[in-house]
Amino acid sequence: MIIAMDGPAGSGKTTIAKKLAEKLGLDYLDTGATYRTLTLKALRDGVSVNDEKALSELALKLNINFDGTRVLLDGEDVTDAIRMPEINNNISPVVAHPGVRKAMVNLQREIAQKGDYVVEGRDITTVVFPNAEHKFYMDAKFEIRFKRRWMEIETKGMNITKEELTASMRKRDIADTTREVGALKIADDAYYFDTSDFNIDQVIEKLSQLIKRNG
Ligand code: C5P
Repeated sequence: MIIAMDGPAGSGKTTIAKKLAEKLGLDYLDTGATYRTLTLKALRDGVSVNDEKALSELALKLNINFDGTRVLLDGEDVTDAIRMPEINNNISPVVAHPGVRKAMVNLQREIAQKGDYVVEGRDITTVVFPNAEHKFYMDAKFEIRFKRRWMEIETKGMNITKEELTASMRKRDIADTTREVGALKIADDAYYFDTSDFNIDQVIEKLSQLIKRNG
């Protein structure tokens, strides 16, 4: 079974998808982490974020593994490294290349088709698993999404100002919704959920009910 979940950055979908998978006894795949890991590899190898051919080749060879919620690149734990501002600032051009997306979508399908998964990202309900048994679009007001990201930044002690965060989130929202391939959109048959006024437990409860009701 696949539960597919899309939504913008800070919509809460990563925390929600993880908790939902835990509650239902399913595995969890964060597709954003696969694109983040590719971006890290490109930066480390000195591959330009504009070089579609080289990036697509890198994506086809990407040696990524998941150990629970830890992400491994060539066997090294890069879970924290892929969340750094340097990745956020360089990821948009990388993920916009059709060749990159083709390789990454194949990789994501290969991983999740092996079992029962909650898969989250931007194009999961529309491109990666359009026939998923359950499809959700998680949203939240910009101020709420900003607050959530800011709390994460403070917890991790990252060196970025509120103004920089606002600019980076706005830029990524535009890039996510306007790219030609794999853009973030609400699938016709996805359940739209604005999480602005709910806490995580309430969201999980509601999603569990919907999944149970739809069989
Ligand atoms: O979800 P997260 O913020 O970790 O995703 C990182 C970046 O990867 C996003 O800005 C988005 O552009 C990209 N992404 C994507 N397709 C997905 C998941 C993430 O293009 N399925």
